[in-house]
Amino acid sequence: MTDLATMLTATGTFIEHEEAWGAHNYHPLDLVIAEARGAWVTDVEGKRYLDCLSAYSAVNQGHCHPRLLATFIEQASRVTLTSRAFRNEQLGAFCEALATLCGMEMVLPMNTGAEAVETAIKAARRWGYTTKAIRDGQANIIAFENNFHGRTTTIVGFSSEPAYRAHFGPFAPGFTLVPFGDIDAVRAAMTDDTCAVLFEPIQCEAGVLMPPDGFLRDLRVLCDERNVLMIADEIQTGLGRTGEMFACDHEDVTPDMYILGKALSGGFYPVSAVVSTRDVLGVFGPGSHGSTFGGNPLGCAVAREAMRVIQDEQLVQRSADLGAWLLAQVADIRDDRIKTVRGRGLMVAIELHEPARRYCEALKQRGVLCKETHDVVIRLSPPLVVSREDLAWAVEQIREVFAA
Ligand code: PLP
Repeated sequence: MTDLATMLTATGTFIEHEEAWGAHNYHPLDLVIAEARGAWVTDVEGKRYLDCLSAYSAVNQGHCHPRLLATFIEQASRVTLTSRAFRNEQLGAFCEALATLCGMEMVLPMNTGAEAVETAIKAARRWGYTTKAIRDGQANIIAFENNFHGRTTTIVGFSSEPAYRAHFGPFAPGFTLVPFGDIDAVRAAMTDDTCAVLFEPIQCEAGVLMPPDGFLRDLRVLCDERNVLMIADEIQTGLGRTGEMFACDHEDVTPDMYILGKALSGGFYPVSAVVSTRDVLGVFGPGSHGSTFGGNPLGCAVAREAMRVIQDEQLVQRSADLGAWLLAQVADIRDDRIKTVRGRGLMVAIELHEPARRYCEALKQRGVLCKETHDVVIRLSPPLVVSREDLAWAVEQIREVFAA
């Protein structure tokens, strides 16, 4: 609920307008952002905030990165959309750059993260039927409790979160859920019909939950033994967020498929992709899958530049260094309301014994933007370009919110 004082401001007018005409499928903090640069945003009242959410890790490169802006304008002034009915001069270069970054052979571009997850599911099932000779209509994918892979009906159908599922059924069959990080449960759930295991290396939306050390390595071995595809949804953890290019790198594991999105285009344009081997993505022939906007020249040009920025500005190392420092600083805040602090790279979580919303509201008042996740967790995931000074200031605000 927006309070009366807010309703009487410009902010209130914008909120009222949005509430009147837009569906209420989010519960945002009551600020209206008008501009953003780097790690900072400015609202319609002219107040500045340090962004500690980064649009759920979509702006790892920082808001309105000048190189991305220049590429965006340049490409938008030439051609934005061709559809895949015709070819464009950006698609091949984008696919090569992304496949090379991932150490893979092929790329299938889409737009949103959920679409890329759907694409991975289709690829895994078709691979299961054509390569592994799974009985027709029986292909099964193992996923994990507390997963978050997006909002399509297929995907929420295998969510364990009641709020994501309620009254959206009937759901697609073909998924088995097991506890996250439990390799014995994965082994027990595998059958001859299992075509893939779909996982987030860190469950960010569930509250930055990390599997036990060695789990990803064990999963790699198990998938190899059973001829099952290992599919890493790195839409949120990928592209430097956790202090490695991919969160799987923390265990030196290469999955069979990466699913990427969000920071792939640095917040300019929805670009997602499935990246895999020829053996897997080769299952798609003409007519079997597609998207009008997937692989469009504007998205491809921006995404290629977004990858270059991550490498040129050494944002992966920056995330590792600043993240370790931030985690230590936050862990140093002693308060009975804090249950635990955990994280990897610039993905840090403060888990409370009570709902986190009011602390996010209080931080907003002090100019720090973060959003509660899974009710009791404050997630800190600023753009990877954030400065140490800005982070130190944010830590001070957190300290004061708990001292108040
Ligand atoms: N997978 C993961 C791990 C995510 O964090 C998200 C979004 O938060 C998605 C998939 C869905 O991406 P999108 O919102 O772009 O559909």
